Order: sequence, then structure tokens, then C-alpha cells
Amino acid sequence: MNNKGFTTRLIHADRLINQPEFGAVHQSTNNSVLFEFKQAQELVDVFQGKQMGHVYSRSSSSSTVALQNILNHLEGGVGAITFATGMAAITATMLSLFKAGDHLILSRFLFGNTRSLSETLESLGIELSFVDVTDIKQVEKALQGNTKAVYLETIANPVTQVADLRAIGQWCQANHLLFMIDTTMTPPNLFDAKSVLASLTITSLTKYIAGHGNVLGGAVVDCGLYDWTKFDNILPIYRGTEPKMWGLTQIRKRGLRDMGATLAPESAHAISIGLETLVLRTQRTCDNALRLANYLQSHTKISAVYYPGLPQHPQHLLAKQLFRGFGGVLSLDLVEGIDPIAFLDQLKLVICATHLGDTRTLALPVASTIYFECSAEQRKEMGVNDNMIRMSIGIEDFEDIVADFEQAFASL
Ligand SMILES: *Cc1c(COP(=O)(O)O)cnc(C)c1O
Repeated sequence: MNNKGFTTRLIHADRLINQPEFGAVHQSTNNSVLFEFKQAQELVDVFQGKQMGHVYSRSSSSSTVALQNILNHLEGGVGAITFATGMAAITATMLSLFKAGDHLILSRFLFGNTRSLSETLESLGIELSFVDVTDIKQVEKALQGNTKAVYLETIANPVTQVADLRAIGQWCQANHLLFMIDTTMTPPNLFDAKSVLASLTITSLTKYIAGHGNVLGGAVVDCGLYDWTKFDNILPIYRGTEPKMWGLTQIRKRGLRDMGATLAPESAHAISIGLETLVLRTQRTCDNALRLANYLQSHTKISAVYYPGLPQHPQHLLAKQLFRGFGGVLSLDLVEGIDPIAFLDQLKLVICATHLGDTRTLALPVASTIYFECSAEQRKEMGVNDNMIRMSIGIEDFEDIVADFEQAFASL
């Protein structure tokens, strides 16, 4: 299989890796919460990790494991764990790997709820430094004796900053730090996390992976590049397996089993169906986004367009090296005097909604919504302007997206 193309591998993965019963091409949705053992000793052995199997569907079921196997195959990692949402994946991973007294280096440019989650982490005694990750010197300067990890996003939302992921990955490796990357904006067909030495990737499956705005999910994949024997937070009880599985074992037990934000079996199925067309959808989305960025940047009613595919984007060349496409998120600043709320109300095809990675084109004002809880100063640090609109470009016919903008500008 590994010599085949990405989409070929993807659409045959369920059949070949998970080998569903009866020759089915999809793993069936298994709603059983409990699993019977004919021999009590077998139940004991599964509980103790001596034998593979499912005991209770909060921890695992054939439905979630099937999706985990596909996601791990696409990333080329050593294993994956799915969660009920992207935020559940982030929270469970953070809380199961870090403790009071640890220090993390976080990107200053984070998804709004990852940013607000960080306040909870600080309240639990985890020390955080927020740095401009597009400047590796700032990352290096933030290193402390108790630093455990660097956490950032591939293309930051909403301003689309891109860090030198390869350089940061090498620096993390040299300093035995976990390198955690939120890859939501760049699914595995657009970005090879192992090539930048990522330790863990965290993804909201809700976005491009599932793609149709009908299901929530999240996942963590261990890329297999981090030496867990260097990570002193792994509890003795989870050091029994091969070291490359220590991190995922602790996340699975402490993060998934104990915290309980499990992906539902129906959701796992819906995500794996959405995933089959990932390449078709993201190609069209990236193509539409680049064309729209070019159209918008020369428009007199727009003062700035943020899209890594534009040559004038500060990290355009870096993005070109790192990604096989510039993603579907594009933000814009309207010129002074145009109210973003009034402008959004003029769009008829583009949907005013907070989501991204959908088949439909979406837009929202960011300062007054996602970043409403942040202070004006924090917004400024993140590069979020008051009149900024974030768009997630869909797969509609390009001419119709442009026409919607044209009629909206004309009606102002
Ligand atoms: C949406 C999103 C999340 C959270 O995912 P949910 O599935 O909505 O919980 C995390 N990170 C990024 C970059 C996102 O866009």
C-alpha cells in the first residue's frame, strides 16, 4: 500500500487495514458499550494490557480504533487516539502530559479556545510563555530548565502566520522538548508532520478531515520521533510497554479513559466517510482561496489580505516549502469606515458562521466574536484588527464566490 498515492491509500485504508467483517468496505458502526468475555481471565488480561481488546467503549471500540488506524496510517505515526472534539484532544493531551511546575512555550498566534484553555492550564500551575513563533530567536529565548514542550499551529488562525517548523523541530529535538503541532489547517495531504520532526500532531477532525459541518471530532497522533525515555512525566505504570508507546499510553489512560471525552461510534463513521474526499475538497478549497486572495488584494475597499499563498505574505516562501497548498483560510481587513457587520450582512451566498474547513464558504468578524474574551492588547499581539473578517473558503464554483463579493461591495 505504501507505494500508492495518497487518495488511493486513503479510500482503501478501511478495507485493507481494518478488515471489516463480511467483506464490507466500511468498518461497521459498533454501538456496544460493553464487551463480553467468555473467559474471565481474558477480561483480566485485556484490562492489564497483556492482550489486545475492548472492555468498555469509553476507552476504545472497533469504531474508534478503525478511524485511529486510518489517521495514523496517513500520518505515518506509531498510533492515534480520537476524541469527541478537537478541544477535547488538546485538553486531554495537555492535562495528561503536563503538571504544575512544568513550563510550555506556546505560540502567541493560537486558535481562540486553545488560547482561553491556556488560562485554565496556568490556573493549575503550568507555566506558559507566549512567543512570536515566526521568530525562532524568541522561541529559543523562552527556554527554561523546566520547559517540556513547544506548541503551535501550522498556519495560524486568523492571521495565517507560519513559523519555521523545521528549524523549531530541530531545536526541540536538540533540547529534548516535545514538539506539538496543531495541524487542523493543513491535513496530512498538505503537510508532512514527520518532515519537521513533530512529536505529536493534534487535529480538529471537525474541520477539513470530516469536511461537511455535520460531525465533531479530534485526534492526537504520535509521529514516533520523540524519545519518551527523556520525558520524566510518564508515570511508572505506563513505562511497561515499548518507550515509543509511553506517551500515547498515558494520554489514552489519563486523557481519554479518565477524562472521558470519547468520540461516538456514529461520529467516527461520519468522519471516515468525509475523509475519503479530503484531497478533492482541499485542492478545490486551496485553489478557490488563492484565486479569491488575488481578487481581494487589489480591491479598493480592502486594506489587507492575509493568505500564505500571496507572494507578499511575510512567510510565503516558507509556506511554499512546508505545505502542498496554502489552505482555505483567508482573512481580510476592510478599509476604515466600512463596518464588518454591515458588510457581512450584504453577503448572500457566503454564510456568516463560526467554523472552518467546510465545503461551503464561511465568514465572520473575529475581534468581536472568537477574540471577544481577549483584551485589546492581546488582540494586537496576535495581529487581530478590529475590522478583520475571517473567511473559510469552500468548494463552490469560484465565479459564484467572487460574484457574491462583487454584489456586496456594490451595495455598500
Ligand atoms: C476548530 C479548531 C480547534 C478545535 O476543534 P473542535 O473540533 O471545534 O473542538 C482546534 N484548533 C484549531 C486550529 C481549530 O481550527
